[in-house]
Amino acid sequence: ARRDSLTGLLNRRAFEEAFAARDPAAGPYCLALCDIDRFKRVNDDHGHAIGDRVLAAVGRKLAEECAPHLVVRHGGEEFVILFQGTDLAAAHEKLDDVRTAIGTKRFRIRETDSPLGKVTISVGVTTVANSDPASIALDRADQLLYQAKAAGRDCIKAA
Ligand code: GH3
Ligand code: MG
Ligand code: MG
Repeated sequence: ARRDSLTGLLNRRAFEEAFAARDPAAGPYCLALCDIDRFKRVNDDHGHAIGDRVLAAVGRKLAEECAPHLVVRHGGEEFVILFQGTDLAAAHEKLDDVRTAIGTKRFRIRETDSPLGKVTISVGVTTVANSDPASIALDRADQLLYQAKAAGRDCIKAA
């Protein structure tokens, strides 16, 4: 009930629990919302099954690069990362490395070995106050994500 079957990552429910169980002494915490850019196009161009594989690969990459921080599939093509003991500048730096790693990864269609084209993510990341409920922190990250999309995608907005 806490794991997403497509990506193998923890899910929204696990995130809500981890968020509620934050240790004020282990802060600061940052929350990032990551969304795959123009993902509908991947499905439209290559089919839903290939889309699923890209989604799982992006999720794995995020989890790998951001470990030991919590990476969850929050729904659809969106992932949430809860950074612990990390200030906003450090979270931003880490996320920029991940963004570059994903954007330069050469995705290929296994069956035909043909290239899939560039896959990029946009990210909104925000500092979490001890008193913030998850919904407030998520709203803030979502607004920043929206700004990252509006700024042309494949970028990070932090506040
Ligand atoms: P943007 O850069 O603005 O985020 O564009 P987008 O195309 O990624 O955004 P939009 O919200 O229009 O489309 C999201 C797409 O993600 C549509 C939906 O079909 C696809 N999607 C969501 N969940 C899954 C999934 O589990 N598997 C697959 N294959 N596609 C999914
Ligand atoms: Mg989305
Ligand atoms: Mg998207």
